Amino acid sequence: MSDRKFMLTDTMSRGLKALEPVEPGHLKFYSCGPTVYNLAHIGNFRTFITADLVVRTAEALGWKVSYVSNITDVGHLTQDDVADATGEDKMAAALRAKGQEFANVWDLARFYADAFIDDWRKLNLREPLVRPRATEHMREQIQAVDQLVKSGHAYATPSGVYFRLSSFPEHGKLSGNVDKEQLQVGVRDVVVDDNKEHPGDFALWKQDDKHLMQWFSPWGWGFPGWHIECSAMAMKYLGETLDLHAGGEDLVFPHHESEIAQSECLTGKTFSNHWIHTRFLVVDGEKMSKSKGNFYTVRDLVEDRGQDPIALRFALMATPYNKPLNFTMQSLSDAGKNVERFRECRRVAESTLDRPGSADISQELDRIYGEALDAMCDDLNTSVALARALEGTGVIFRDQSRLGGESSKIALEYLDRIEELLGICPSSQVEERSFEAELELDMILRSELKAAKKFDEADAIRLKWLDQGVELRDTPEGTIWKLVQS
Ligand code: AMP
Ligand code: ZN
Repeated sequence: MSDRKFMLTDTMSRGLKALEPVEPGHLKFYSCGPTVYNLAHIGNFRTFITADLVVRTAEALGWKVSYVSNITDVGHLTQDDVADATGEDKMAAALRAKGQEFANVWDLARFYADAFIDDWRKLNLREPLVRPRATEHMREQIQAVDQLVKSGHAYATPSGVYFRLSSFPEHGKLSGNVDKEQLQVGVRDVVVDDNKEHPGDFALWKQDDKHLMQWFSPWGWGFPGWHIECSAMAMKYLGETLDLHAGGEDLVFPHHESEIAQSECLTGKTFSNHWIHTRFLVVDGEKMSKSKGNFYTVRDLVEDRGQDPIALRFALMATPYNKPLNFTMQSLSDAGKNVERFRECRRVAESTLDRPGSADISQELDRIYGEALDAMCDDLNTSVALARALEGTGVIFRDQSRLGGESSKIALEYLDRIEELLGICPSSQVEERSFEAELELDMILRSELKAAKKFDEADAIRLKWLDQGVELRDTPEGTIWKLVQS
């Protein structure tokens, strides 16, 4: 295990602080995931890339990482920037807007969650240990609400169950929103439940027997508040105290502030020892957001415009997470050139493996990798880390005529280590594996379709691969594939 310190800005203490897992060398990390009512946009992915870089840096230090990132598929209301959120469930609103596209809200949730995971993989993000869904953790949420009511931190009204802000004097410690009167501001012109003790008391459970996704609880049919979801799921998988909790900057208040209030009242312990928040990705100075409509999805760029997803990843991390990032097509094009440089470097190293060489690059590449890791440990300073990583390719290109054997291997190991740390130069083997994995899956799917007598759909898979130069042939031993001779 490295003895480097991993310094990260901590939103709670408002300064740089060493990330120190309670269990040394084992990071317990929760990062808020998306609300799956639409395709995630690249601003959302900027925040998820920050979490990914934390995981990669911790792993590079030799730590074990328990990384949990959820999917919110119920309970996130449209007016969510106020103490007690109001409006319609984003899932229900999306279903209304998308009319005929989905049979029901469950299908809509599943579709966007799958699309999200697909985009996640395209951007080369590390898989979390668990990706819990709010709708699959209702028992844990109801139990948490029940416990808060029983301990006097929450109360029921005819419209739901609310957290009693006055029972937690530390409320506001993360965001600085400490003035309880100010918490009313967000209520705006929305009708509130007069039975609430304070307008800022936020919903843990909403009673609603008309809601499209509803569960039975001690307070009748209804659905959970957005904040209790994350508290319940984080504690279920990571325990009562997390080492680190992450999200985008808009989650500081009210989402994370409320998570702290609920969780700390439930356990009497600190909910998370460290908090980080990614600054927004902006377009013409404005936050990229689904509600403003000024967004690109990964699909817009990768599928519709043929952009390289690794270049997109590079562009999204080129500015450190603690500064706003202005996304432009130019930045994507610049990132593409850099990513191509890594690829070319890998080709050079691979093509020289079998010849004798005399280049002595080991120490120089070790030093450069060490500097890239130092930069990541310095509050995820990705602009320096990427510059160092590119410097390493410069060393390899400089000595390419003398590369061979051991030195080519050292060059490849360098690229692999940079890939592990930054995720911007996956090896060709990875690409080959994923091609075969996709093919294998399609072959399974095709035989299932044939068994179900869905011959047209089965044939569409065969034709799709034929288009890409791969022939699927049925033999008595099963289906095999062959590259078509051109
Ligand atoms: P949502 O799907 O709205 O729940 O958001 C998922 C994550 O993306 C949250 O951590 C948000 O804070 C984050 N996020 C939303 N918009 C942006 C943006 N423009 N730039 C960076 N992160 C964002
Ligand atoms: Zn959350």
